[in-house]
Amino acid sequence: MDDSRASAKRSGQRNWVSLIPFGLHQQHPNNYKDILDAVWDNRDNLGYAYRILRDGCCDGCSLGTMGMRDWTMKDVHLCWVRLQLLRLNTMPAMDWHRLEDVASLRHMKGKALRKLGRLCVPMIRRRGDKGFRSVSWDEALRLIAERIRQADPHRIGWYLTARGVTNEAYYAHQKVARFIGTNHVDTSARVCHAPSTAALKETVGCSATTCSYTDWIGSDLLVFVGANTANNQPVTLKYLYYAKKAGTKIFVVNPFVEPGMERYWIPSVAESALFGTKLADSFFHIHIGGDIPFFYGVLKHLVEHDWIDRGFIAARTVGWETVQTKVRALPWENLERGAGVTRQEMYRFAETFGRARHAIVVWSMGVTQHRYGTDNVKAIVNLQLARGNVGRAHTGLMPIRGHSGVQGGAEMGAMPGAYSMNYPVNDSNAALFATPDFWGFHPPSWKGLGAAHMILAAERGEIDVLWQSGGNFLETLPEPGRVRLALSRIGLRIHQDIVVSSTMLEDPADLVVLLPSRTRYEQRGGGTETSTERRIIYSPEIPGPRPGEARDEWEIPVLVARQLDPGRAARAFPWRDTHDIRQEIERVCPTYKGIAGLRKKGDQVQYGGPRLLVDRFGTPDGKGRFTPIDLPEETILEERFFLTTRRGKQFNSMVGAEVDPLLGAARDSVLMAAEDAACLKLDPGDIVILRNELGEYRGRVVIDRVKPGSVQVYWPEANGLLPAGRLDPSGVPDYNATVEVIPACG
Ligand code: SF4
Repeated sequence: MDDSRASAKRSGQRNWVSLIPFGLHQQHPNNYKDILDAVWDNRDNLGYAYRILRDGCCDGCSLGTMGMRDWTMKDVHLCWVRLQLLRLNTMPAMDWHRLEDVASLRHMKGKALRKLGRLCVPMIRRRGDKGFRSVSWDEALRLIAERIRQADPHRIGWYLTARGVTNEAYYAHQKVARFIGTNHVDTSARVCHAPSTAALKETVGCSATTCSYTDWIGSDLLVFVGANTANNQPVTLKYLYYAKKAGTKIFVVNPFVEPGMERYWIPSVAESALFGTKLADSFFHIHIGGDIPFFYGVLKHLVEHDWIDRGFIAARTVGWETVQTKVRALPWENLERGAGVTRQEMYRFAETFGRARHAIVVWSMGVTQHRYGTDNVKAIVNLQLARGNVGRAHTGLMPIRGHSGVQGGAEMGAMPGAYSMNYPVNDSNAALFATPDFWGFHPPSWKGLGAAHMILAAERGEIDVLWQSGGNFLETLPEPGRVRLALSRIGLRIHQDIVVSSTMLEDPADLVVLLPSRTRYEQRGGGTETSTERRIIYSPEIPGPRPGEARDEWEIPVLVARQLDPGRAARAFPWRDTHDIRQEIERVCPTYKGIAGLRKKGDQVQYGGPRLLVDRFGTPDGKGRFTPIDLPEETILEERFFLTTRRGKQFNSMVGAEVDPLLGAARDSVLMAAEDAACLKLDPGDIVILRNELGEYRGRVVIDRVKPGSVQVYWPEANGLLPAGRLDPSGVPDYNATVEVIPACG
């Protein structure tokens, strides 16, 4: 063996976790069992299930696939998230008579409700009815149109989920909402990456990821902040495997030492499946919400050691002097207290980061779901601008999306403050969209409400009609009691969906309508999604069974528009299938140039190319903006703990397993640090009550590597402890709280 091969072998072995095969001695997911479970779950429709996997673009997270391949590596691209979601696409139609009496369904958990099967006929339920009755599409559409005609458009809300919804469906829905006269349009991006969108738009002038996944492999440094991609975008682990092979270092900044980011047994890579792969080189164990002080501390070290790209700063940015002055003046004590780590720890980060030729920062909900989520993202941007880490190969800003629809949904205009492709809602853009080259009708020019604000408005009795395409507010938003009250005050609720959710079963204030929808794989003409790396990917229609009377997801709101005003709707929505919609998107959204030509599996276009902002930022003056953000000093009362929420084996609020396979922890676990448990005289398995002003939560102690002074619980179970009205300026709820931890008996 020559020297270089021997050295490569040694370096590979250094990344092994253990010589015990398959990590049999350690807790980690069993992906082979996930495959067997998927085969068993889909046994009545295996051929169709296989065709979806082979030819469709994954409807799970936002990495994006063509069948079971991608554009980053040659290997198979498949994970448990996709396998778990597969059944939603292959299930037969439900026995809709089960919905005739909702009392029998109320006690059922979400998983059991989904297992009932696909919604297959339109149904209505009026106030006082014990359940739904089936109606024709004509009657359902007539009832909806009648109510919408009577409603003030300022009192109509529109919400779309981000799982599986295609760009064409987002485009159609938001356009119909504007046709009706409302800008209260939103997607589930509002409860995840809206702060990233706001902060990036303001600082670098574009709200998308600036690099590609391929940039990860060979970058000097990859930094993950508040992101557990091992759980939420599992195939990233394969990218990390190749990145490690190429010599990339991985840092993780998080209040919990996530074991999946530390090491993993990647099932489809023989070496990793056998011996495991060590992933993170270093963890930085910050406080919940300690991001801004931590990154200020790192920046302070960069300034003090002159690890700054002054040429880049001078040529391409504004605002550096103000930030530099602010950073120099910030006392280390404040930064250490806020971040929860010492200045030496921040130095350890800064030294590697400051010496790296290139670095990419990847972040997710741990950064955004705070009341200062937008400022958290700006702190990351400050750091990357200081090192010139934007626009070059292996550098970039990456808000990694958890759902396949998040990026495209916002860009198609399903957001309250912008029409398609980020045209801000205002008079001049409304006039532009009224021209024949755009929509040919005048959309409203007032700024609408985001999802959480819509529910708060409904609670005040200010929403008369709420269209929900997917989603489950009762399970996803904080303070479910207040959400329930809000739902009870909405005269007409329309649920367009593929399965039954608990929110649908809430009693009608006046009328609830269920409209059965097709999945992306059933849609005529296929559909597209936009991945985190801005790749617009075509997913073809997959031949197979179609449940009952379900209609295409994009078509249902258009049918309502046609019912409301046939003449105007015929001009505004002349589409026969999704190909027609793609042609219009190409015309209205120049950024999506090329979408009209996507027709078969594998067709895709990455808008902007592999990297954005190569020569110029997207701001009006072309410069990147440093932001002198304030330190968020959280005050925590004596004897209280920070509480944050975590995800287990689940997709959004759809829980797939009662035990988190990464930790082996049950859903009622309360993760806490060993020193806190010792102080409270608690042992693993002890029952504790978490209590604050909003309520109580009962769970069992699990001792793990969470930041002392904090606890972690599974979401959405702990939503009752989270305050509904505490929002980031972009509208994202703060999914954190403070609680007392009280030992309970029995
Ligand atoms: S990592 Fe994401 S895109 Fe890839 S298969 Fe899993 S859920 Fe689908």
